Amino acid sequence: KKIIITIDGYSSCGKSTLAKQLARELDYVYIDSGAMYRAITLYFLQNRVDWTDVAAVKAALADIHLEFVPNADKTQSDIYLNGENVELPIRDMLVADKVSEVAAIREVREFAVARQQQMGERKGIVMDGRDIGTTVFPHAELKIFMTADTAVRVERRFKELYARNKNITIQEVKENLELRDFIDSNREISPLRKAEDAIILDNSELSMDDQLRLALQWVDDVLLV
Ligand code: C5P
Repeated sequence: KKIIITIDGYSSCGKSTLAKQLARELDYVYIDSGAMYRAITLYFLQNRVDWTDVAAVKAALADIHLEFVPNADKTQSDIYLNGENVELPIRDMLVADKVSEVAAIREVREFAVARQQQMGERKGIVMDGRDIGTTVFPHAELKIFMTADTAVRVERRFKELYARNKNITIQEVKENLELRDFIDSNREISPLRKAEDAIILDNSELSMDDQLRLALQWVDDVLLV
């Protein structure tokens, strides 16, 4: 039996790390829902779309084609925006600075959620994001809500970004995480919330092995029922 696993939580809690571990271990497909909002934001920036204008947003969305294409690691995929692999540029600070604003737009969310739900028609997926357990898959068999101390999260994200861009500062990373968490938690449409039936996983002091073992135990518990 294959199930849907949702992982929601604040920025840089390690959601994608756990999601990838689970996908590999269970031979499931991992879907990074945040990559979709990032790719849409990248398109808006590249094409100078005025996203305060609903008509402009609708016209732009009609031109956007998103696709996840499996990469060398068969449980993982890269996101393609209109045929181009944008897995790297969507991680840039320029995108991170604007993505929460774009993700708060009703039309953008409807567009992304519809595609996410389509992908869920096939069981055996792990999807991470902010509203996956509440809005995208309210009936998912296993929902995890991840948290970690702010200092731990800033440190992790900084290391990731610094590897690619030596100009980045800790302060900049901290401000971006705090701003995104604030906008994501306070927007009108499907704000970041723990689903009532989600299990909380605080990984501030867990090793990667520990967190995987814990989550696999929860998967077993679900499969036994
Ligand atoms: O997961 P990641 O940090 O890449 O997500 C980038 C942004 O996309 C989040 O800060 C949030 O604004 C938005 N997002 C969302 N709903 C999701 C996933 C991401 O609003 N399910």
